[in-house]
Amino acid sequence: ARLKASLNKTRQKLLGPLEEAVQFHKRISPEFYEELEEILITSDVGMKTTMLLMEKLKAKVKAERVDDTEAVLGYLHTIITELLSVPPPAVLDSDSPLAILVAGVNGVGKTTSIAKLTAHYKEKGKSCLLVAGDTFRAAAIDQLAIWAKRTGADLVSHQAGADPGAVAFDGISAANARKTDVVIFDTAGRLHTKVNLMSELQKVHRVVTQNLGPRQLVKFLVLDATTGQNALEQARVFHEAIGIDGIILTKLDGTAKGGIVLAIVVELGLPIVWLGIGEKAEDLRRFDAAEFATALLG
Ligand code: GDP
Repeated sequence: ARLKASLNKTRQKLLGPLEEAVQFHKRISPEFYEELEEILITSDVGMKTTMLLMEKLKAKVKAERVDDTEAVLGYLHTIITELLSVPPPAVLDSDSPLAILVAGVNGVGKTTSIAKLTAHYKEKGKSCLLVAGDTFRAAAIDQLAIWAKRTGADLVSHQAGADPGAVAFDGISAANARKTDVVIFDTAGRLHTKVNLMSELQKVHRVVTQNLGPRQLVKFLVLDATTGQNALEQARVFHEAIGIDGIILTKLDGTAKGGIVLAIVVELGLPIVWLGIGEKAEDLRRFDAAEFATALLG
């Protein structure tokens, strides 16, 4: 119900016009398909994903030999569920000790998402250690310290300006020495020095990878749903730099751009693992393709 409420604006933008088109056209026709296409594209689904959806929809209509537009919404639900069903890293649902690297540009909700993840693992009875890897912003270090205290997690931090690779090394070493269940690495996300940012991120990635010990590594990218197609561009850059395992999509509540979910999964082939639907620690949902399709299409 919370997910559905979060998707209200996106649903209004997508489902409203879709239902109108179904009622107006009644019979399937090229004009009807054209209208669907336009609705999907203007709902942040993106051109490429829209084309794929339409192709699959037409094939289904043909196979089922229907000419009634009424059937289309149900088909779309099935197709969208299939397209979104990219499995998350299996290790997330195992009991293996984890190292979670969290990347993303400033302001997308990285710190908040780390806090939410920590609260999630704490609730499952896991011990957590947070590593303040965004040494560029003193405020980021302070924020993480506050969240560590609030959620009862350990913290490894250095002073502002310190080498992020050194913080990462101390963090992973401390987690392994203490046998902490989950160690989560915050990373820098300043955008104005993109090249430096990516090489710094690669260095942190290298340090963590080389000192994993018994842990499995999961690399999350945090994307802000309100930025629509921009999020796709960010994802490409980060994926190229360190290879992303899954997406945390924030601020889905209150945006009409939820269609971006489809574009991210289809165009990048990356699973969305978590959805942020509010500012509080408990406002995090595991992504489920069928549930999402239902929340989207009613
Ligand atoms: P960071 O710079 O990426 O670490 O971003 P922050 O975690 O500081 O978040 C930036 C702003 O977005 C803050 O005001 C958060 O409260 C807000 N925020 C983060 N996640 C969500 C979400 O899922 N929904 C909403 N509505 N706001 C969010």
